[in-house]
Amino acid sequence: MWTRTYLSIGTNMGNRVGNLKQALGLLNRRPEIRLMDVSSLYETAPVGGVAQANFLNLAVALETRLSAKELLNWLHVIEQSLHRRRLIHWGPRTIDLDIVMYGRSCFNNVTLKVPHPEMGNRRFVLVPMTEVAVKGDRERIEELLKITPDREWINQRLVKKEVAEWIKKK
Ligand code: ATP
Ligand code: CA
Ligand code: CA
Repeated sequence: MWTRTYLSIGTNMGNRVGNLKQALGLLNRRPEIRLMDVSSLYETAPVGGVAQANFLNLAVALETRLSAKELLNWLHVIEQSLHRRRLIHWGPRTIDLDIVMYGRSCFNNVTLKVPHPEMGNRRFVLVPMTEVAVKGDRERIEELLKITPDREWINQRLVKKEVAEWIKKK
């Protein structure tokens, strides 16, 4: 069974575009993962009060035969291969891959919380997601966007078509 899943990916260290390209390439490497759609690329303000560089963020829609836990493990492998170090909570990172939604499933463990508990408080998660969410999911995301308390800036840097080129060239 293939489960429709949405990821939010962010980076604010090193070659940010290069990091995102590598992460997408590594996601694509698993036969149990099909990339369905990638959003535009956005530059966004850092959250959490740590002084640090701006982020680049995007959202990915995929279908996967992996369980949510297996998918999370693969995301951790990708983070490690991009030399992510966990130094400061909500601090700078080369790459951060979060599972925002995994089908209609809900998990609330220490290691896995889905839907992502902060999604409604982050326009940098919601705005890209509206571009890749399918009917049914999209309405839900748009509702969250209407009521989000988040007022941080978010600027489109590359249109969706340009980001899609990154995965075609593989
Ligand atoms: P936030 O989750 O608020 O965006 P963060 O991404 O900076 O914070 P991390 O340090 O990347 O937090 O992750 C800490 C742990 O969160 C991970 O080791 C992972 O087990 C756990 N986690 C829980 N739910 C999720 C999820 N939906 N997606 C990714 N990681 C999750
Ligand atoms: Ca995160
Ligand atoms: Ca994370």
